[in-house]
Amino acid sequence: MKVSHVPMDLRLKHTFRIARGASDERRNLRVEIEDAGRLGLGEAAPILRYGEDRESAAKAVDAMAPRLRDPRRFATAAADAAVAGQHSAQAAVDMALHDLAAQRMGVPLYEMLGLDPSRTPVTSFTIGLDTPEVVVQKVKEASAYAVLKVKMGSDDDRAVLEAVRDTTDQPLRVDANEGWTLEGAESRLAWLAKLGVEFVEQPMPADRLEDIRALRKHSPLPFYADESVHNAADIPRLAGAFDGINIKLMKCGGLGEALRMIAVARAHGMKVMLGCMIESSIAITAAAHLSPLVDAADLDGSVLIAEDPYDGATIVDGKLVLPDRPGLGVVARGR
Ligand code: MG
Repeated sequence: MKVSHVPMDLRLKHTFRIARGASDERRNLRVEIEDAGRLGLGEAAPILRYGEDRESAAKAVDAMAPRLRDPRRFATAAADAAVAGQHSAQAAVDMALHDLAAQRMGVPLYEMLGLDPSRTPVTSFTIGLDTPEVVVQKVKEASAYAVLKVKMGSDDDRAVLEAVRDTTDQPLRVDANEGWTLEGAESRLAWLAKLGVEFVEQPMPADRLEDIRALRKHSPLPFYADESVHNAADIPRLAGAFDGINIKLMKCGGLGEALRMIAVARAHGMKVMLGCMIESSIAITAAAHLSPLVDAADLDGSVLIAEDPYDGATIVDGKLVLPDRPGLGVVARGR
């Protein structure tokens, strides 16, 4: 078994703004694991907020490589070999091992997991922070998507959301990215509900869990946790503060932990969404293979980049469509 990694510079179609900052490019890392003539692919999209970058992810993959003795133990191998705090590297190795395992069995990953590919959800398309005029333009360009997720966190939030609602009848979700405080939150929820918004993602900072719990008691809209949840062990204490969780492979460390999170969330009566960072079709497709198990998907990361180097899961009439090739089923473009 040979483990290697290659830098991936992903240029974005539009500058992407959220409450914490803006970016034009993503510095991701592709992981390749060769075994018995097969090539398994994985991708790390390191999260700066959690002290990861491409260099630390590459180092972590190098450290994990000699600990990965048996690729057949794909369910736990990446978690057993992981470097503390380097979740995106763990996720990349984990998805490459799952890719290899399903290729070995000659079936798509969803089939190896026993999932029905016709049960994939629609995916939302994310509209980053901008002036109302630019947001309206982006909304017009996103008419092919079944649901829009609008980022909040500017002083213009209400004007932006009202302009979006005047432009489209598409269902809307909003992501506050921890940007609210208790003050003003109730009135904000009231006008968001009036605009027909479906739910709010991470209204307040992760360390304000009791405030979130208090706000939810009278909230007309459900809350989904994103920054508040990384892995399955985080979920029990979130019950009652959030209605659902947003699972991202880059936060939790891969498909094995994501499956555990889905089970724990269900045990607490919570909804599940699958989300992403800005990622190529390698990592997006890995997450998409789990999507028949969830209520909502926000797997638009590969659509936000200018030239996706891979083909994998696609979006048809807003719904995720899984490739039926063995493994993850991703192939390099132009080959
Ligand atoms: Mg979010």
